[in-house]
Amino acid sequence: MSQAPVIDRIIRSRRKTVALIVTPEGKLEVRAPLVLGRKQIETIVSEKSGWIKKQQERVHKSNGNALRRPLSNGVNLWFLGASYPLKLTAKAGTRVAFSNGFSLPESALPKAAELLTAWYKARAREIISERVSLYADKSGLKVKSIRITSARTRWGSCSRDNALSFTWRLVMAPIEIIDYIVVHELAHIIEKNHSRAFWNQVEKMQPDYKARRKWLKGNGRLFDLAIEANEANLKSFH
Ligand SMILES: [Zn+2]
Repeated sequence: MSQAPVIDRIIRSRRKTVALIVTPEGKLEVRAPLVLGRKQIETIVSEKSGWIKKQQERVHKSNGNALRRPLSNGVNLWFLGASYPLKLTAKAGTRVAFSNGFSLPESALPKAAELLTAWYKARAREIISERVSLYADKSGLKVKSIRITSARTRWGSCSRDNALSFTWRLVMAPIEIIDYIVVHELAHIIEKNHSRAFWNQVEKMQPDYKARRKWLKGNGRLFDLAIEANEANLKSFH
């Protein structure tokens, strides 16, 4: 027999019916009448366990690809190494706008993570493609294709047939860091390993790559899970 879902929170009120809510974080919240006992609530939850698990799986799957943090007015978001506040506006529609800060119609807030992720992916495609062409042309390297992923654990990769992949999260980082990852993956076109020859190749394209790599090791996690800018933790690249 499968286990009953865990109840994360019960909110009692004068309501007459029971409502089960799977939050954007995948938690189970039960809204229940004042008089309903814990046992009765557990019975209802266990009867609905199939539906609850399906909702939680859906939430976890979509969170894996999108921004995870609850988004609200004033939260800070990274873009090209700087943090900008998100401003919710009274406008209609679902457009994410960026001009020295992010803005989004407040009515689109339930879809904010999805909309902002789509915005980042589009910027990642523009910016990273441009940087790849720049360095590939300089070094006479042929790239098969560029793919933008939602990877959390790697910034980029190079396939056996020289198709490059980059996570959209990379455009949260400063351009110097984006360029280091671009050069790193381009060097894999010549050397499919991390041998001395590989690092020599990186150095040829980017003599100061060591400082950039070190910066990324120290600060890279800022652009992964902790989307909200934390100024105290960000050391300047320069
Ligand atoms: Zn590598």
